[in-house]
Amino acid sequence: MSYFRKAINAMTAYVPGEQPAPGTKVVKLNTNENPYPPSPAAMEVLRGFDGDLLRRYPHPYAEAFRAAAAEVLGVDSTWILPGNGSDDLLTMLLRSLAEPGRRVVYPMPTYVLYRTLAQIQDAEVVEVPFDDDYSLPVDALADAGGALTLVASPNSPSGTPAPNAQLAELAERLGGVLAIDEAYVDFADETALDLVRRFDNVIVLRTLSKSYSLAGLRLGFGVGNPALLDGLAKVKDSYNVSALACAVGAAAMRDQEHKDANIARVRASRARLAGDLTALGFTVWPSQANFLLVRPPAGGAQALYEGLKARGILVRYFKQPRLDDTLRITVGADDHNAALVGALREMMGD
Ligand code: PMP
Repeated sequence: MSYFRKAINAMTAYVPGEQPAPGTKVVKLNTNENPYPPSPAAMEVLRGFDGDLLRRYPHPYAEAFRAAAAEVLGVDSTWILPGNGSDDLLTMLLRSLAEPGRRVVYPMPTYVLYRTLAQIQDAEVVEVPFDDDYSLPVDALADAGGALTLVASPNSPSGTPAPNAQLAELAERLGGVLAIDEAYVDFADETALDLVRRFDNVIVLRTLSKSYSLAGLRLGFGVGNPALLDGLAKVKDSYNVSALACAVGAAAMRDQEHKDANIARVRASRARLAGDLTALGFTVWPSQANFLLVRPPAGGAQALYEGLKARGILVRYFKQPRLDDTLRITVGADDHNAALVGALREMMGD
């Protein structure tokens, strides 16, 4: 006997990456956080925050943040819908678009939460395999007929981007909504943001968790035409962005200089780390994100993951088809990346 819906009993819960207690001495390269602190301007807002704003409910659309994001992106604020992380936007998409008999389509392997959210809705899931080079399987995705098609670009865990021309072709061919998950786009060369103006079925998702160093704040947003966003807003929690996240996020958004400087540092470290791992014999997929998917030269990915963990270095190991011979390594600060490379060199007997 169970109290839960059949679909809930049948699914497994999403398992987030390990989060050691604050203060634990560990090299944390497992959940794609930014190694650098958030904007000083955002920290200033946090320190001076007025308690009266906590007494009251926040603005239902996080207006101050929405205005800042609109200004930075050069769109009208009615084209922006903030959420409690971009995960919240994904939840809204699945709640409003997916149900039994409707298809949710995405390439695999990708962000595992897509499957979890589709299963909650008891929707029909179509997982289209990527080739080993992670080029976008446009035809198979288009032919699958999704009410919702999800593409992470850059993709996780591969770090590979989908070219805009292919995303545009996909948007054109789809009868349903195309959500382009740009959680990592600030580390990439190209954004698909223009597609929201060209196609009324496209939404682009962004987050402040990675490039703005604010994963703990929980703030993300969707960019799309107002009619599309209105449908999502119907299913959102009434006050899905806290007053604190709204104010701190607005200040972070207005400090593009800080974000851009950190992105430049991460991109430079990414190139160095990719070079070091290639020199150790790893296959390194060409990443445009703040992490690298790598395959060790002589197998044993799980043993390396465990060996690193024993040395206080956390990376991500996915025990699932296609990925169980790889590691996903967040690009950290250079000293942490060097510690990782040193430990790998030692373990691999060089
Ligand atoms: N999309 C992708 C591809 C991700 O990897 C993540 C982070 N786990 C998210 C969305 C969600 O990020 P957040 O909810 O912190 O904005």
